[in-house]
Amino acid sequence: MPRIAVGGFQHETNTFAPQRATWADFSRADAWPGYVRGAELFDAVAGFNIPIAGAVEKLRALGHDLIPLSWCSAPPSSYVDEDAYERVAAGMLEDLAAAMAADSGPLDGVYLDLHGAMVAAHHEDGEGELLRRIRALDPAIPIAVAYDMHANLYDAMIANATVVAGYRTYPHVDTYDTAKRAGDILVRAIRGEVRPVMAWGNVPMLPHVMRQGSDDHPNRELQARCAAMSSEGALAASLFTGFPHADIANAGLSAVVVTDGDKDLAERLRDELLDRAWVEREAFVYKIEPLAEALARAKAMPAPAPGQGPIVLLDHYDNCASGGTMDTTVVLGEILKAELDNVAAFAIYDPAAVRQAIAAGIGARVTLSVGGKLAMPQVSGDSRPLEITGTVKTIANGRFRNKGPMGRGVTTDMGPSVVIDTGKVEVALISRHVEPSDLNCFFSLGIDPLQKRYVMLKSRVHWRAGLGAMAKAVVDCAGIGVCTSDYSSLTFNNVRRPIYPLDLPNR
Ligand SMILES: [Zn+2]
Repeated sequence: MPRIAVGGFQHETNTFAPQRATWADFSRADAWPGYVRGAELFDAVAGFNIPIAGAVEKLRALGHDLIPLSWCSAPPSSYVDEDAYERVAAGMLEDLAAAMAADSGPLDGVYLDLHGAMVAAHHEDGEGELLRRIRALDPAIPIAVAYDMHANLYDAMIANATVVAGYRTYPHVDTYDTAKRAGDILVRAIRGEVRPVMAWGNVPMLPHVMRQGSDDHPNRELQARCAAMSSEGALAASLFTGFPHADIANAGLSAVVVTDGDKDLAERLRDELLDRAWVEREAFVYKIEPLAEALARAKAMPAPAPGQGPIVLLDHYDNCASGGTMDTTVVLGEILKAELDNVAAFAIYDPAAVRQAIAAGIGARVTLSVGGKLAMPQVSGDSRPLEITGTVKTIANGRFRNKGPMGRGVTTDMGPSVVIDTGKVEVALISRHVEPSDLNCFFSLGIDPLQKRYVMLKSRVHWRAGLGAMAKAVVDCAGIGVCTSDYSSLTFNNVRRPIYPLDLPNR
């Protein structure tokens, strides 16, 4: 029976964020799934909407003997430090070498979940370096990789793999299907039914994250074109919008096409995807509305009728799932000042304020200084603590299981959490960074967002996965944070230049 090793190592690195990803961040015992290695991997990932779960299901259904490596992921942040990277890589290399040496037969293939935008402190291309080491163990073994749509591709990520497939949705609700696609091609390659060849390339553009949603033009059409290429000879075609908050040479948009032995076709389809994206570059540029104007517009909107759902106020500069501190207070402060009424705000990260509220107890009236405590040396502007006064409405342990569709079934841990009701605004304070992409982040704190006139979210696109259907309207709120939408305010020293829209005239 063919033997395939499976594992994963995921991190999205925002080089403008203040905190690094350490071994402790990858191996947290108190948060799902932590660092899992060996047989425990299968139970840890089963049933969850993450790529490896899809790969395990697909490969097992095809009758393969799966050899577990390790799987881990740390919250998005700045660089993965050398110690964390080397520990994870060493474990994976050790397990692979053992699997290749086992008496039970040769290893026939490798499947990996990687993010594609991991920057290690000592390797700009984190995934490429890992794959280079794996490839060095065996120059011929088929290797399949599933990447996030935010991957920033490097040559080593392609040269040291056999098959690469990327998500086609943002919010990422097709992680499972992406892994199945990669796994299917891997199996056919092992059986000798196909001989995958790949062509990849990039164009000098940094698509704005706020313009990357796959329900919106132009990414909707680009991803549809990727899917259609499967009927034109592509085994897999992927367009990566890339992760722009990374000051690395290859940040930005790229594409890779896998065909069965036809390099010319792969190159032609790749060029078509890159040309189409380049033509649409202006549509990937995001236009910023000043915060005061945005909130005045929100205030003037008619109140939602019963059953309509709230107006979403998107505090998108401070998205923790892209490295944000989740403790900037500019947008919340302006919401309070503008006296918007019937608001729920998710959330401010502030473990100290949470402890104070817990000490005061349910129903107590408290005045707290919230947020504004984490430094952001690479971001201009000042995020000060915000004083709020209100009643402690909820005290919770902060744990819930995702309703989905993103990460359905995954246990999310916000840490000890409270809700402070100011009379007009219910402010959620949490002790772990969690992006609101699931309705249960509200329900678990006793807030029904569907009954609110406004809901403030620290998110950019993933909120749409679980909460998009409820929104009556969306108002983007330009605040402050390491996911700033004003790319001209970030200092790029390493990205290849010139690059659109930072340098190139819009021709
Ligand atoms: Zn992503």
